[in-house]
Amino acid sequence: MTKYIFITGGVVSSLGKGIASSSIASLLQLSNYKVRIRKLDPYLNIDPGTMSPAQHGEVFVTEDGAETDMDLGHYERFTGIISSKSDNITSGKIYSEVLKKERQGKYLGSTVQVIPHVTDEIKNFIQADLANEDFIICEIGGTVGDIESLPFLEAIRQLRNELGKEKTCFIHLTLIPFIESSNEFKTKPTQHSVKELLSVGIQPDILMCRTLKKISNESKDKISLFCNISKESVINAIDVKSIYQVPESLFEEKIHQRIFDHFSLSRKKNINLAKWKNFNKKLNSSNDSIEVAIVGKYTNLSESYKSLNEALFHSGVHNNINVNLSWIDSKTLKDMKLCRRYLDKFDSILVPGGFGKRGAEGKINAIKFAKKSLKPFLGICFGMQLAIVECIRCIKGYEEASSTEFGKTALPVIGLMNEWKQNLKTFKLDKDNLGGSMRLGAYESILKKNSKIFNIYNKKKITERHRHRYEVNINYKHLLEENGVLLSGISPDGNLVEVMEKINHPWFIGVQFHPELKSTPFNPHPIFNSFTQESLKLKKNDKR
Ligand code: GLN
Repeated sequence: MTKYIFITGGVVSSLGKGIASSSIASLLQLSNYKVRIRKLDPYLNIDPGTMSPAQHGEVFVTEDGAETDMDLGHYERFTGIISSKSDNITSGKIYSEVLKKERQGKYLGSTVQVIPHVTDEIKNFIQADLANEDFIICEIGGTVGDIESLPFLEAIRQLRNELGKEKTCFIHLTLIPFIESSNEFKTKPTQHSVKELLSVGIQPDILMCRTLKKISNESKDKISLFCNISKESVINAIDVKSIYQVPESLFEEKIHQRIFDHFSLSRKKNINLAKWKNFNKKLNSSNDSIEVAIVGKYTNLSESYKSLNEALFHSGVHNNINVNLSWIDSKTLKDMKLCRRYLDKFDSILVPGGFGKRGAEGKINAIKFAKKSLKPFLGICFGMQLAIVECIRCIKGYEEASSTEFGKTALPVIGLMNEWKQNLKTFKLDKDNLGGSMRLGAYESILKKNSKIFNIYNKKKITERHRHRYEVNINYKHLLEENGVLLSGISPDGNLVEVMEKINHPWFIGVQFHPELKSTPFNPHPIFNSFTQESLKLKKNDKR
């Protein structure tokens, strides 16, 4: 029978509930249990798809096409378990389901209320779509005390009552600040946070205390006493240099044993942590490094491109290269002179996914610079679309080429498919209905033999995740190919461009999909491996 572990957070946000959930999942997985991780987000958006990444971080896209919270990216990277639509829910989605049922008359005349109707919907979600998992780890977004998270807390309280202690475990992640001047840990915020949880009827079973360093014995005693938790269930969640060191660190704190004890499962002696150990051993062990410029609009928040950062990091560790990333604001790249000034010191250039006109010309300039300077270039989604625009603009008579995303243009090399092809399944821009209307999730591409991309994947048919509305106008295929751009990856129906590459350039590749979403520490993505290897090779040869 499936057991449920609920992870809540207290005191402050950003304590790393997502990483804690992922790490616990990994430890359970390494103990040979079947695990699934779910995220319950208290905000009212139906999904994060319409939210600015500057506000909410990256939108992670699942294989089955859901736009989800970026924590699902951590879950996949840590466990390799592919998430699905049914692994992320928001208050908005819950309420919209409840209201839909109300309109359908499904509540048979009753007054629709948070308890039981909203909480029932939440409980249904938590227990739906299971496949014999031993554990479901449910992370509750937000911080205890937020108004929006109350129905979620109420729902998990009810589940405890219904399923019993032997099927449910509450883990609460809090902060234990360390005051340098008085050289002491402060347990009061944690006490308050547990009190807050108790006020909604939840007594945590395990406390994970985020701290700078191991908390003192006295502090543990105090927490145990005031929070009504056995001392051994007060776990240190110590700051570590890399998120990938958290599973090992929590293993040392024996969190898995506490979970087994809670559920009266026999303790496992031989949990093989070799894969984490090997990965972490390789961290910072390389002498080589490359400098990569990422040209984008949201340069102040690495959270906006979490998966991209991680994917580059994975391939760096895998290939023994320190991959140093610098975010360059595309607005500063007004001409080639400025591109030279800001970009010349880098070994390679990457233009990631993006939306809208703002900063797009600067990105196009960066692409032109990468092309001319023969620096390795990777364009992802929007980055690929702009690379196509740049390449066409270089052809005499096509200087005005553009994307219809930026407004009307006489030369729509990028546009909505229905703008140049009829009777095709199309992803329309409906300004009144933006949510969930893009081409989302996994789609196949067929790669051309003897192309760079074919050699990178070493196979003909690939599947990658997408999140875009605009497409390369396939009518420009011949013009592009006559002018040194190979369309080396195409959708199986032959209509959509999935990969472009520039011939006569050491490494210039654009992909319509998001390879970063499938990279994991143990299985870095071949595109990023090739990109980092080639960047280092060219840096060393300095052939440019
Ligand atoms: N704005 C582009 C589109 O909608 C690219 C999207 C992206 O980079 N994810 O097609």
